[in-house]
Amino acid sequence: MIARIRNIWRIDPFSLRVRLTIGIAAVSALGLGSVAVWTTWQMQQILIGSHKRHVEDIAGRLPRDAEIYSEMFLVATGVQKAIDNLTASQTFLWVNFFDGTNQAKSTNFNSTDATAIALLSLRQVSTSPQVYVINNRYFVMCARTLRVNGNSLGQLFVAQDISDEQTMFLTVVKGLGVTSLLILIAITGAIALYIQRSLKPLMQINQLAAKVSATDLGQAKLQCDRAPTEVRELARTYNMMLERLAAAWEQQEQFVSNVSHELRTPLTIVHGYLQSVLRRETNLTTIQRDALETAASEADRTIRLLQDLLDLARADSGHLHFHIEPIVLNALVAEVVGMARQYSNREIAIEATGEIIVLADRYRLKQVLLNLIDNAVKYSDSSQRIALKLDQLEQARIQVCDRGVGIPLQQQARIFERFYRVDESRSTSGYGLGLSIVKTLVDGMGGCVTVSSRLGEGSVFTITLPIAA
Ligand code: ADP
Repeated sequence: MIARIRNIWRIDPFSLRVRLTIGIAAVSALGLGSVAVWTTWQMQQILIGSHKRHVEDIAGRLPRDAEIYSEMFLVATGVQKAIDNLTASQTFLWVNFFDGTNQAKSTNFNSTDATAIALLSLRQVSTSPQVYVINNRYFVMCARTLRVNGNSLGQLFVAQDISDEQTMFLTVVKGLGVTSLLILIAITGAIALYIQRSLKPLMQINQLAAKVSATDLGQAKLQCDRAPTEVRELARTYNMMLERLAAAWEQQEQFVSNVSHELRTPLTIVHGYLQSVLRRETNLTTIQRDALETAASEADRTIRLLQDLLDLARADSGHLHFHIEPIVLNALVAEVVGMARQYSNREIAIEATGEIIVLADRYRLKQVLLNLIDNAVKYSDSSQRIALKLDQLEQARIQVCDRGVGIPLQQQARIFERFYRVDESRSTSGYGLGLSIVKTLVDGMGGCVTVSSRLGEGSVFTITLPIAA
C-alpha cells in the first residue's frame, strides 16, 4: 500500500524535495505550536488570575465584615451576615467552626446537589487560591483560618465556580488547535508545491543529461533560461563539460581511425609478401613454412581487426556511407555461403521461401553475413549443420542458425557491445568487435539485428531489412 502511494506521488524519502518539505513543515509546526501553546497559557493566566484575585479579596474581606457585624450581633450571626453579604451567584462561602457548632454557609448551596455536598465536606484546601476539579466542575478555591476580634473561630472556605468560563476556554483551545493544524497542512502543501516547482529545472537537467549519448555529445545542450541562477550556472558548467567531452571523443575517434589506417597499409604489404613467399618458394623447410604461415595468418587477423576499428570509427564520426540499392537477397546469400563453404569446409544450408528483394548496401550486407556465419562456424561443432533461412513478412528476414554452444540469457543483451566477449576461454581468435560491426552496419542500412539462443542448444541471429517496394 505504502509502495503504491509512493509510486503514485513518486515520494522518495531521500529526495531533496521531501527533505526540504519535511524540514520546513517541521519548523512551521514548531513555530505555530509554540504560538498556540503560549497563547493558551496566557489566556489561562488571564482567566484564572482574575478569579484568584476575586477569591483572595473575599477571603480577606470576610473577617473584617464579620468583626463589624459581631459588634451588633452574636459572633456566629455576624459571620453568617458577612457571608450573606459577600455571596454572589457563582461564589460559595462556608465556615467550619472549631467548636463543632453548625457550619455557616452561603445561601446559594443546594443541599441536594452532589457538588455542593462534596464542597462542604472538603477539609484539605490550600490557603492560596488554586483550581480544583470537583464532580467535573472547576472551582478556584482557598481556605483560611477565620479570626474575629483575635479569636480563631473556624476554617473559612471561599470557592468560585469557573466551570462555564473553563468550558468556553477549552472550546477556544480546541478551535485554536484545529485551526493551527489546518494552517499547518495548508502551509505544508504550499511549501511542497513551491519546492517542486523550484526543483523542476533540476529534474529537466537530469532528464536531458540522461539522454546524452556518445554520438550526440557535440549537439547536446542543456537549456533552462527561466531556472534560478544556481541551476543556470550548473547547466552552463555542464554544457562546457559536454563540449570538452565531445572534443576528447572526437580526438580519440580520429586517433583510432588514423592509427588503423596507417597500420593497415604496411601490414597489408607484409601479408602480401608473406603470401607470395609461401606460394613461390619450394625449398622451404617445414619449420620455415610453419613460421611463415603463422606470421601470414596473424597479419591477416590484425588487418581484419584494423579494418573493423576503422569501420567503427567511421560509423561514429558519421563517415560510414552506405550505397543502398535493391538487391536480390537469394543470390547474394548464395554467393556469401559459397565463399564461407570454401574457407570453413562446413555444411551450410540455405532455406528460402521465394525471391526476396531487399534495400541494402551489397558490400556491407556481405560483410554482415560473413561475420555471422564466421561466428556460427567458430562456436559450433564441425559436425553440426549451419542454416541460413530467408523469408519475407513486412520486412525481409535473414536468420543465421547454428547448433553450437549457445549464449547465456543474461549476456545476450551485451554481445553487441564493443569488445564484449562471453567467455574468453571459448575462442582465441576474436576481439569481440564482430557483432558490434554487424549491429552498426545493419542499423546503418535501416534494419535491425537480434539474437535468441539457448545454452548448449545453439543460437539464431535474426536480421530484418527493408524490402524494395
Ligand atoms: P568474437 O570476436 O569474440 O567472436 P563477436 O562480437 O563476434 O566477437 O562475438 C561476441 C561474443 O558473442 C563472442 O565472444 C561469443 O562468445 C558470442 N557469440 C557470438 N556469436 C555466437 C554464436 N553463434 N554462438 C555462440 N556464441 C556466440
